[in-house]
Amino acid sequence: MLDLTYETPKPKVIAGAKQDWELVIGLEVHAQVATNAKLFSGASTQFGAEPNSNVAFVDAGMPGMLPVINEACVAQAVRTGLGLKADINLYSAFDRKNYFYPDLPQGYQISQLYHPIVGEGEVLVDMEPGVARVVRIERIHLEQDAGKSIHDMDPTMSFVDLNRTGVALMEIVSRPDIRGPEEAAAYVSKLRQIMRYLGTCDGNMQNGNLRADVNVSICLSGAYEKYQETQDFSHLGTRCEIKNMNSLRFIQQAIDVEAKRQIAIVEAGGEVVQETRLYDPDKGETRSMRSKEEAHDYRYFPCPDLLPLEIEQAWVDDIAASLPELPDEKRARFMGDFGLSEYDASVLTADTTNAAYFEQVAEGRDGKLAANWVINELFGRLKKDDDKPITDSPVTPAQLGGIIDLITSDAISGKIAKDVFEIVYTEGGDPAKIVEARGMKQVTDTGAIEAAVDQIIAANPAQVAKAKENPKLAGWFVGQVMKATGGKANPKAVNELVAKKLAG
Ligand code: ADP
Ligand code: MG
Repeated sequence: MLDLTYETPKPKVIAGAKQDWELVIGLEVHAQVATNAKLFSGASTQFGAEPNSNVAFVDAGMPGMLPVINEACVAQAVRTGLGLKADINLYSAFDRKNYFYPDLPQGYQISQLYHPIVGEGEVLVDMEPGVARVVRIERIHLEQDAGKSIHDMDPTMSFVDLNRTGVALMEIVSRPDIRGPEEAAAYVSKLRQIMRYLGTCDGNMQNGNLRADVNVSICLSGAYEKYQETQDFSHLGTRCEIKNMNSLRFIQQAIDVEAKRQIAIVEAGGEVVQETRLYDPDKGETRSMRSKEEAHDYRYFPCPDLLPLEIEQAWVDDIAASLPELPDEKRARFMGDFGLSEYDASVLTADTTNAAYFEQVAEGRDGKLAANWVINELFGRLKKDDDKPITDSPVTPAQLGGIIDLITSDAISGKIAKDVFEIVYTEGGDPAKIVEARGMKQVTDTGAIEAAVDQIIAANPAQVAKAKENPKLAGWFVGQVMKATGGKANPKAVNELVAKKLAG
């Protein structure tokens, strides 16, 4: 594996402030576990189902119902933990977090406060090639999602949909290691990529399957270093938590406006109050939702309906053995095995379908050439074609590989190859047969090229005279020969012959 070295990005400093304020950000990401059934019931997790059709009695908080842990959810949390290089806790336990909400029929959420299933881990957050930051994960715990209150369907009534109630969430809590809005977005994006590789969360933010609570504070330059040395939070500023963000763009905007709000308060001599806030994208501001509650407000206590969760190391090892190659490792391998730049390798490993496609094309071929064709030609063409996903690509890896083989065997030039690609894209077919049938083969026969060169030279004596004085003008002859041969002459042979004839 390739050992990449990274630079650490500078913390974001807010422009326009009187002092050098830096940002400190920690995220609590809620990722819906990809499973068929809920955390403690057999009800379906299917998105978009008829309201209140996926509700078991236990989800509806019916008296006397008992939750039963869904092993698949536990396995997915362990898998996610392993993917984030985190400690797996063989002993974990569920607690009740008590609060009232119309879409929480139990009157409590079953969560894991004291003994989460996953402990400390880390994520490499890529900013740009050669620049990355390690964001530490504090913990991941399993918990139930709540239902949904619907306020906009009727002027006088609110409705409740319990389909989501009891669906398993992983709450992934980061350390406050994120230093700017772009980094926060890159962090969520990297988490999503890893979970998609693992198949543990589909990462669909629009559907609310991935959402984040964003904690923001400001501090003066130097304070964060003190926190890092001591892990003492008192060196950091008071944080505000912006709830339930489900778009990367809004996360960045919210952090920016929240930081500016806090700076304005502190620079005017005031103090930031710890609280929960909401971001309003229309107004471009955050506003207070409630003052920060403490754990004791929820009267957390061990859930008496559930035994502590004890899992075996051998089971964890089995899951570990089944993990796929993850994005960082895949990227390093693509750089090492195929000689790709970090940028190209990142593009090709963005998701597993891209990566698998590329690997089939590159197999036994020049990796860089394959990367160029996949990224520039194929991705470019798919984008123009209404952003078609690669899974619907009309050009298969075998066909694209065939085009590349024709280039490397000098049968066609890179330029003609683009025409062949377009034919394969729109009409299909075997590239070698297309080239043969349509007479697109490159002319490498020097006799034929020589004849064309001679003809152009004979027809343009004035140009010849000029070119003899200025060798740079030879390019014009090359262009004419290419034109005369319909672009099929081997450019290298043409260049050599033109130079020879003009010198003679
Ligand atoms: P709570 O459970 O009350 O929300 P936690 O201690 O679990 O509190 O922290 C929640 C999140 O807040 C974590 O992601 C943590 O990294 C982040 N955080 C803690 N202190 C700060 C701070 N001063 N600035 C920004 N984020 C912070
Ligand atoms: Mg919190």
